[in-house]
Amino acid sequence: MTFYPLKVVEYLQETSDSASFVFEIPKDLRATFDYKAGQFLNFQIPWKDFFIERCYSLSSSPFDDERHQVTIKRVPDGRASNWFNDEVREGSEVMVAVPSGRFVLKDQRNNGLVFFAGGSGITPILSIIKTALLSTDRPIQLIYANRDADSIIFKQTLDELGAEYSNQFSCYHHLDSEGEFLNQKKIEAVVGQRWDADFYICGPGPFMDTVEAVLVEHGIDDDRVFIERFASPIDSDHAEAQASPEEEPQIGGVKLKITADGKDFDVEYLSGKSLLESVLADKSIEAAIPFSCQEGHCGSCMSLLKQGDVEMRANRALSKRDLAKGYVLACQSVPTSNNIWIDFDI
Ligand SMILES: Cc1cc2nc3c(=O)[nH]c(=O)nc-3n(C[C@H](O)[C@H](O)[C@H](O)COP(=O)(O)OP(=O)(O)OC[C@H]3O[C@@H](n4cnc5c(N)ncnc54)[C@H](O)[C@@H]3O)c2cc1C
Repeated sequence: MTFYPLKVVEYLQETSDSASFVFEIPKDLRATFDYKAGQFLNFQIPWKDFFIERCYSLSSSPFDDERHQVTIKRVPDGRASNWFNDEVREGSEVMVAVPSGRFVLKDQRNNGLVFFAGGSGITPILSIIKTALLSTDRPIQLIYANRDADSIIFKQTLDELGAEYSNQFSCYHHLDSEGEFLNQKKIEAVVGQRWDADFYICGPGPFMDTVEAVLVEHGIDDDRVFIERFASPIDSDHAEAQASPEEEPQIGGVKLKITADGKDFDVEYLSGKSLLESVLADKSIEAAIPFSCQEGHCGSCMSLLKQGDVEMRANRALSKRDLAKGYVLACQSVPTSNNIWIDFDI
């Protein structure tokens, strides 16, 4: 992955434990850094005598903002999030890879949109909401859960959007400090009659599990539910936690077929490599293959295993439900059967 040095042109303290960082994109990189609302940037961060990589969603909207902004909340004892909040200021230079990610607004639909955000999970959701308000007439409901009132990121922006688009957008703030975590009863009360909407979810694991379970109970089709999981990779100083290559299955004569951009391709599988590595090595494929971190935590290369069996080296992006539905991370998958077919067009 190529990382470009980008300069921070603005630093904005959002809450006591989160801040936004705005990057200047040089003219010759503008097209390279084009993005869709909801996508993220991958950062390479100096840590001791090596580098770690972390993804941060763009909280700006490509529709109303020339600037690329990410918003980062401190994680207790977290390396990158505290490094950003402590060290990075206007004038700092940070290594950044191009935008990526599948958690984006599905257009060509006109039903309502219901967003569930928890804590820093608001970042990609704000970007999508701003974009949907500017580009569609779809009614939008945001349910935003936080520990307490002081933890709400973008409170003022959300209030302003609520006032400006009062017929189209409303925001319900849930505060744990007022009693309990967001639960099924509250979710059903706030969603009201909007069960025909598209649902977007981003927040802490248990929060997303609660919301997902309610959507399942209401029979919401998977193609109307979009989820972004915030996870860190296993850093190289903790790499022993990952499966060692010796333990991986090695089988010969693998036939690999992929679907991408509506076309099927036969790919030469490179023994010992992941499916994604084999696909990227095949220069004859004329399709955009989605990928970013290549470490199993960003979910960009999520694909549907239509045929065959694979084993994943690591997985910090897919839920049990995703796995049960047959989704795999191409960057972490190695074949355990001979005929493999994965579909990136999901
Ligand atoms: C697609 C995507 C988009 C994201 N967007 C955002 C965003 O917009 N804003 C945002 O704030 N975050 C976002 N994240 C999360 C972000 O990438 C980081 O995961 C987060 O900031 C924590 O990273 P860190 O380096 O600070 O913490 P880490 O150092 O990764 O630590 C995280 C936690 O794990 C613990 N830990 C670390 N190593 C170990 C170990 N070996 N054993 C046990 N415990 C350990 C730490 O103590 C800490 O509690 C996103 C993630 C993804 C995948």
